[in-house]
Parts: sequence; structure tokens; C-alpha cells
Amino acid sequence: MKPIVIGNWKMNITSQEAKVYLGTFLRKLEVLKQAEVTLCPAGPVIPTVAQMLEGTGVAWGSQNAHWEERGAFTGEVSMEILQDLGCRLVLCGHSERRKWFKESDFEISRKVEQALAHNIVPVLCVGETFDERKAQKHEVVVIEQVRKGTERLSNIPALALIVAYEPVWAIGTGQAIEPEQAWEMARLIRSVLREVLPSGAESVPIIYGGSVNEINVASFVDGDAISGVLVGGTSLDPEKFHQLIAQLI
Ligand code: PEP
Repeated sequence: MKPIVIGNWKMNITSQEAKVYLGTFLRKLEVLKQAEVTLCPAGPVIPTVAQMLEGTGVAWGSQNAHWEERGAFTGEVSMEILQDLGCRLVLCGHSERRKWFKESDFEISRKVEQALAHNIVPVLCVGETFDERKAQKHEVVVIEQVRKGTERLSNIPALALIVAYEPVWAIGTGQAIEPEQAWEMARLIRSVLREVLPSGAESVPIIYGGSVNEINVASFVDGDAISGVLVGGTSLDPEKFHQLIAQLI
């Protein structure tokens, strides 16, 4: 299986900047084709990125979406709209959304369900805060997030789900955790998936996110416990992000 690499641009990179970025990033396509690469720009930038990525093998996705089909939800974007834009995946419950927008596990589980209803792969993001890790509560917190995030999934093929383990204290801090710590948590997540999705648990890719860069990336992806990465900061630089991907193939 190809390594999974997702770039989360967050609230950075305008459409104009994306054109310049992709001019550099797409230069060595044969490297990118050996991984399963997806870029997640800010919503209004998706059409520009989609147009430039069409036919390259690099996919595009969204950082978020609403769980309802349609309706009076000013400022929101639906999964149907993302599907129309050709999004391959959508991040569900990124820690920044849990923190700043108070997203609950219940809402996140509905997003996961709604994404699948529109043939978009939900990337369920889970991870403990620094205080929770210090208090030795990281396992309990992550078990709960996985259980609740997948609670509406019983009849849905697990193949179409990705779980991203992202310890909040490693996101955007430049301080990645030790690979052993990430593998340990990935194994824990796998055991919860076996419990909640007995028929498809083995095929759900588990990826790591949190200060991954072109230097440390290879130490996380072992092709066993962890099959890819979710990258924020390093994905903003097309050359470094390209180098990061090259380390995995
Ligand atoms: C993220 O936003 O999911 C992330 C992992 O960010 P960073 O790589 O900057 O830590």
C-alpha cells in the first residue's frame, strides 16, 4: 500500500499563492505518484487547486464540513458541495476545531457518517492534550474519541475511513513525539477499531500528525502500525513537502 500523505494548509495560502505553490510542487510528479497525496486548502481555494491537480494523481480534500445535508447554516459547507468539487477526503474533528469551535464527539460522528454518505473519506482526528498526557489520561481520551467518532458506522465499510492520531501538544509546536509513543497509540486505536468495526478494522489506515517534517517523517511511518502522515506546517512549503514525501517512497 502506498504511504498516505495529507497536507493541511489550514487558514493559509490564497488561490494566487496556490498557483505558485503548485507550479513548484508538481514538478516531480513521478515522486508524488508513489504516495497517496492529498492537499487540503481552505474551502474557497479548493476549486483552483482542483483544477490544477486534475489528472496529476494528487488529490484534494477539505479541512472541515457540516454534518447536515442542506439548510440554514450560514457560513457552512456541506459534504454534497465537497463531493461536487471532487474532494477525496475531509478532516473530521481536527483538534483546532475541537478547541476553537467546540466541536463535540457527537457532531464529529455525524460528520464522519455524512462524509461516507457522499463517498468522501472521513479522516477522524483524535489525540490528547498535554495536560491529559501528563495526567496519564491519554489512552482513555483517545479510546473515547475513537469510540464516539465511529459510533454511527456499523453498516459502513471501514475501508473508507482513516484515523489520524494527532497529540494536541505536538501540533504546530515543532516538537514531534517519539515514534514509539505514536506506534503505541496506533496499536491502541487499532484495538478499539476491532471492537467497534469488527469486520473492517484491519483495513482502516492509521496515520500520525504533529510536527512532522522532511527530517523526522520516515521514523513514524513503519508500514505496520502507522501508514502515513497528516502534515500542517511543513505542507506550506512546496519544496520541503515534496522532500517529505520523497522520504517515504
Ligand atoms: C495538523 O494541523 O494536523 C498538524 C499536524 O500540524 P503540524 O504539522 O504543523 O504540527
